[in-house]
Amino acid sequence: MSVLVLGGAGYIGSHAVYQLIEEGHQVIVIDNLITGHKKAIHKNATFYNGDIRDLHFLHTVFEKEDIEAVFHFAASSLVGESMEQPLNYFDNNVYGTQQVLKAMVKAHVDKIIFSSTAATYGEPISIPLTEDMPAIPTSPYGESKHMMEKLMRWAEKSHGIKYVSLRYFNVAGAKESSEIGEDHHPETHLIPIVLQVALGQRENITIFGDDYDTSDGTCVRDYVHVEDLIDAHLLAWNYLNQGGNSLICNLGSNNGFSVKEIIETARKVTGKNIPIKTGVRRAGDPSKLIASASKAQNQLHWHPKRTSIEKIIIDAWNWHVNHPNGYGKED
Ligand code: UDP
Repeated sequence: MSVLVLGGAGYIGSHAVYQLIEEGHQVIVIDNLITGHKKAIHKNATFYNGDIRDLHFLHTVFEKEDIEAVFHFAASSLVGESMEQPLNYFDNNVYGTQQVLKAMVKAHVDKIIFSSTAATYGEPISIPLTEDMPAIPTSPYGESKHMMEKLMRWAEKSHGIKYVSLRYFNVAGAKESSEIGEDHHPETHLIPIVLQVALGQRENITIFGDDYDTSDGTCVRDYVHVEDLIDAHLLAWNYLNQGGNSLICNLGSNNGFSVKEIIETARKVTGKNIPIKTGVRRAGDPSKLIASASKAQNQLHWHPKRTSIEKIIIDAWNWHVNHPNGYGKED
C-alpha cells in the first residue's frame, strides 16, 4: 500500500516524502508545480503532475494506486498574498480540500494528516497558545486553513474519515543532508531572507518593527525544525493507525526567539555581518506567537530533537550554501 502526499514538491511536503521513503513506505506525490519544484521530489516517489481541484484527476490517481492514507500539504500559504487574493486562497485551499475528501470517500481512504497553521488562532489571547483557544483568524490564509479543518470534522462525522490537523508555528531549517530545503519565489520568511543576506544575495534585512512589547522590541516566534515537524506527521499517522481519535495539535516548542535573536544567531553560524535596516511593522503581525506543545507531546509522543535555534539555522545555511540558487532552473 502507498501513502499519498499532496504538495510533495513543496518545502514541507518534500521533507515528508523523503522521510516516508527512508522509513520504507511507498509514496505517491501529487503536485501542480506552481510553487513546488520537480527537483525536490524524491526519485523513488511516483509523481502525478496535477491539481487537487481537479476531481476527475484525483479519482484517476486513487483508482490506479492502492492508497492507505493522505498527507495533505497542497495549499497556498502566504498571509500577505491572501489579503490581496482572498478568493484564490479559498479556491485553492478550501475547494481543493473538498475535492480531496470527496476522492477519499469514493476510494474508501479514511486517514488524513493535515498541514494547518498557527494563523488559525489570529491574535493570541494569551501565550503559550493551546488548542482549546478560540480560532479567530485575521487573514484569508488562516481562515482557509480553519475552514479546511471544519471540512474534515464534518467529513469525519458523515464519512468516518479520521484526521490529525497539525497547526505549525514557524517552520525552518532543511534536511541535514542538504539534499532538499526551502526555495520560495518570492521569499518572504525571515530565516531564508537573513541567509540570503549572508550569502551576499541581498544587501540587508529589514526588521519589520522594533517597537513591539517584547524584550528587544522585535516580534517573537516559535521556530520548529522541518525534520522534527515531519516526525510529528509520522507519529500522527501511527496514532490514527492505532485507533486514535481525530485531533488538532500545535507543532511548536514552548519557546520563542525574537527577530533580532535570529539575526544574531545567523551572524554566529555564518560568520557574516548581515546588515540590518529597521522598517515599519508588517500588517497583521502579532507581537508574540509561542505554542504550547503539550498536546503533541502527550497524544502523539512527539519529542523534537533539533530544538536549538543554532541547529535550525545551521541546516538552513548548509542548504543555502550548497544551493545558492535553490533548485535552479527546472527541466
Ligand atoms: N520578518 C522581518 N523581516 C523580514 C521577514 C520577516 O522582520 O524580511 C519578521 C516578521 O515580521 C515576523 C518574523 O520575522 O515577526 C517571522 O516572519 P516570517 O514571515 O518568517 O513568518 P510568520 O511569523 O509571518 O509566519
